[in-house]
Amino acid sequence: MPTDHRRARMFLDRLFQGRSLDELGHRLKPKHHEPAEKVPRGFRPSLEGLEQRWQLLATRPETRGELADPETLRKMLSYQCSAENFIGTVKLPVGLAGPLRVNGLFAQGDYYIPLATTEAALVASYSRGAQLITEAGGCTAMLLNEGVTRAPGFAFRNLREAGRFIVWALSQMEEFRRAAEATTRHGKLIDMRITVEGNHVYLSFEFTTGDACGQNMVTLATEAICEHVNAHAPVRPQYAFVEANLSGDKKASAQSFLTVRGKKVTAEVILPADLVGSCLHATPGQMANYWQMSAIGGVLSGTLGVQGHYANGLTALYIACGQDVACVAESAVGVTRFEVTPQGELYAAVTLPNLMVGSVGGGTGLPSQQACLDILGLAGPGKAAALAEVCAGLCLAGELSIIGALCAGDFAHAHRCLARAKPARQPSDSPFDISKTLPVGVPLGRFRQDQAVAAQAGAS
Ligand code: NAP
Repeated sequence: MPTDHRRARMFLDRLFQGRSLDELGHRLKPKHHEPAEKVPRGFRPSLEGLEQRWQLLATRPETRGELADPETLRKMLSYQCSAENFIGTVKLPVGLAGPLRVNGLFAQGDYYIPLATTEAALVASYSRGAQLITEAGGCTAMLLNEGVTRAPGFAFRNLREAGRFIVWALSQMEEFRRAAEATTRHGKLIDMRITVEGNHVYLSFEFTTGDACGQNMVTLATEAICEHVNAHAPVRPQYAFVEANLSGDKKASAQSFLTVRGKKVTAEVILPADLVGSCLHATPGQMANYWQMSAIGGVLSGTLGVQGHYANGLTALYIACGQDVACVAESAVGVTRFEVTPQGELYAAVTLPNLMVGSVGGGTGLPSQQACLDILGLAGPGKAAALAEVCAGLCLAGELSIIGALCAGDFAHAHRCLARAKPARQPSDSPFDISKTLPVGVPLGRFRQDQAVAAQAGAS
């Protein structure tokens, strides 16, 4: 992580403006005076705990009111397995994109997709891409593979001990399965892979996790395997960890990219040239040229896979639908490909090998997150595979829209119009009168124009 010497010099000049080296040194020293009061602990939300924490913060009443509003307090118990030391909820705007027609092995039909974001142009851009796909008859989507790993690590005195342990572990697959599957009705142990590095052994246990995303499920199941190891292994590890950072959990990794983590899904669409022209103001040739150049850009910058902005759509959908948002780190990896077909149409495809999504468990049961899954028609058991295919379709929509905006030269313009618009005044009465929700001084005609700009937008 080197820094160029000129930049380092400039940074130092900025730091030393009016300050001595001693003063700066003092800022960085550990300080041993009495610390601020500890946050009162609470694993379950309670009014008493909430009160104590807000007393500690001593903020303005309006600050508290924003987070601990009456609706949040009313539903407080719904958040009991979500956040410790509860002080309230953060509100985010949710926009609707679509319809997105998905012709999948599991997802079938036209989906309206709720997206929670603070990034202007994002929903408009995905919505435009989704509508374009729908107009072409929809995207074909296929779930290709599934599996979530936990990778405990075992340290031995030497390689000989590690070898004896592996010989034993290979004979224990059935016992490992029994121990793991005793902890869950839906998790199934499907594979074990072995990695040896000196006297360290990593066992990567791969599970299917039903309709849950599965991180807790595989942790608990793997812990049961580790207990079996501890009780029965002929050679005891000197130390062991239930996860030794080989699973790729919440990190983009070459390993996950080459195999699967969560759900691997691919989606494609073929777009006639006139549709690309009318919807994106570009030609299939321009779109394919952009893709070629951006693919090389991705290689030159060392990205895993080649894609434009999967993270935008996935983050917004994960937040809205109660998915583990940190998993975007691994989920937003994949390959986008655009080509011109011999008939002059645009062929567009995305493949995402690490979609960590579930329709049960985790945050999917929280009130507004469940409501968003309901909008999709994908709440509850039996819907996770369809949700993954919809995610892939959404990413395809986002890639088409952003590349269209870049090809047509609309990218900066759309962001200027949407992200830098004057803030809207809070409507004082009926929320249903759209003219009352317009940005200040913007007539309805202009608002419609802005919507047209939005339709050309690519989010970044
Ligand atoms: P979970 O809510 O912990 O577990 C899913 C629950 O749903 C299980 O009790 C499961 O029962 C039940 N279930 C009911 N119907 C099901 C169905 N059709 N398919 C699958 N399960 C069904 O959720 P999770 O997906 O395992 O874990 C996700 C959460 O873990 C997220 O909140 C994430 O942030 C968090 N997380 C945990 C770790 C960790 O290592 N602990 C790491 C990262 C993230 P059975 O168990 O009987 O099958």
